[in-house]
Amino acid sequence: MALQNCDLIISGGTLITQNKQREIIVNGALAIRGNRIVAVGPAGVVLSRFQADRRIYAGGKYVFPGLINTHTHLFQTFIKGLGEGLTLYEWIDTISAPSASGMSEEQAYLSGLLGGMEAIHCGTTTVLDFMYSMPSSKLYRQIGRSFKQLGLRGVMGIGLMENGEEHGLSPCQFRPVVEALAEWKDISRQLSDELLSFALAPELPFGITRKGFELIRQFATDYHMPITLHINESQDDDKANMTDYGMRSVPFLESIGFWGPDVIAVHCIKMQPEDIEIFARRDVKISHNPVSNMYLGVGRAPILDFQKAGLTISLATDGAGSNNSQDMIEVMKCAGLLHKAGYENPGVIRAQAILDMATLGGAKAIGQEHNLGSLEVNKQADLFIFDPLRPKSTPVFDPVSSLVFSSGPDSVVTTMIAGKVVMEDGKILTVDEPELLQECQKQAWRLANQVGYAHP
Ligand SMILES: [Zn+2]
Repeated sequence: MALQNCDLIISGGTLITQNKQREIIVNGALAIRGNRIVAVGPAGVVLSRFQADRRIYAGGKYVFPGLINTHTHLFQTFIKGLGEGLTLYEWIDTISAPSASGMSEEQAYLSGLLGGMEAIHCGTTTVLDFMYSMPSSKLYRQIGRSFKQLGLRGVMGIGLMENGEEHGLSPCQFRPVVEALAEWKDISRQLSDELLSFALAPELPFGITRKGFELIRQFATDYHMPITLHINESQDDDKANMTDYGMRSVPFLESIGFWGPDVIAVHCIKMQPEDIEIFARRDVKISHNPVSNMYLGVGRAPILDFQKAGLTISLATDGAGSNNSQDMIEVMKCAGLLHKAGYENPGVIRAQAILDMATLGGAKAIGQEHNLGSLEVNKQADLFIFDPLRPKSTPVFDPVSSLVFSSGPDSVVTTMIAGKVVMEDGKILTVDEPELLQECQKQAWRLANQVGYAHP
């Protein structure tokens, strides 16, 4: 039988497919044509059917589907580590909001590149960036530019906030939803491409009027855009909604028909049984951010209740301001540790379930389960290659457990997105990393001085 041509073959490694059977193929191979996987299987079988000019030999290594980060704020990469020890709203007021409004376009671009580079080093191939509401879209275009430069797959969340001063929100971020949506329609048309799509991102339940939420719901349905919002990270959401509408936040949004399978609810810590029941009925997706939640001391999401209710759970870093990193491998480990400790049961959450959240769960959360999340024929070739020969990772008995609990970015040697190698031998190919790191250090200090929160 004549061999079929494809663009690239990865052979010799162990494939952690994340398919329905969670099949692991020792000495496997993947054939890739354009941006898609055209064959997955034992190397002997794939190589008897396909040939390619380019081959990557992955003998002794492990090939995983790319990780999907369903919540971050890339502009915050420049405020990494500032404000440690502050409470959530102190930190938003003194660090996060001023940096969002004081940032230059170049600083936003560099901040996006810096966070994106770290993501790629950690095997992340898709990032949902939740931009804060801004008076102008200039900075957001720069974050979009950074995705394109890196070759990183992204969902750009359009930050929306229009009121809530009486609940402590900063008016510098307010903008009528109707005005923001009109502009974002144009921006999404200009920036959308094969790798970049858009979502609507109302920041908080009490930052949007009832009318605003109705408009957001309609817009998302009309344009098939997912919606993502922070909810119940603290008790404040319920308190504010009780004052404004006499109902807690999740039931209030249910009463106006807001929830649906296209909504990614971020944090979800202070949840009542009624909230979880509504989420299950509406198939709302969860973005779980364990590192950020621990760093800000806001509590622990009731993940077992989510699982019992059959909710889709994805994982995320959150912005570098409340995580200090974009490392999804660390997020996976912390998800495990947080719940093992919290439930006082080491078996309560296992490495396989955690990897499922970071791959398949993420794909489902952003509505791309047909396209992403596993190494299967017809899916996008988004993956990373893991080298176990690192002191932290050796020896490997169970590759899934090793990835989650005993690895880090230095174990990730190659990252591929849509069939393109964006990092090889630990070196990002789409930017000059050493030069950029120096420039980021310089520009981040400039921003900190400008906004007045630099410290020696
Ligand atoms: Zn957030």
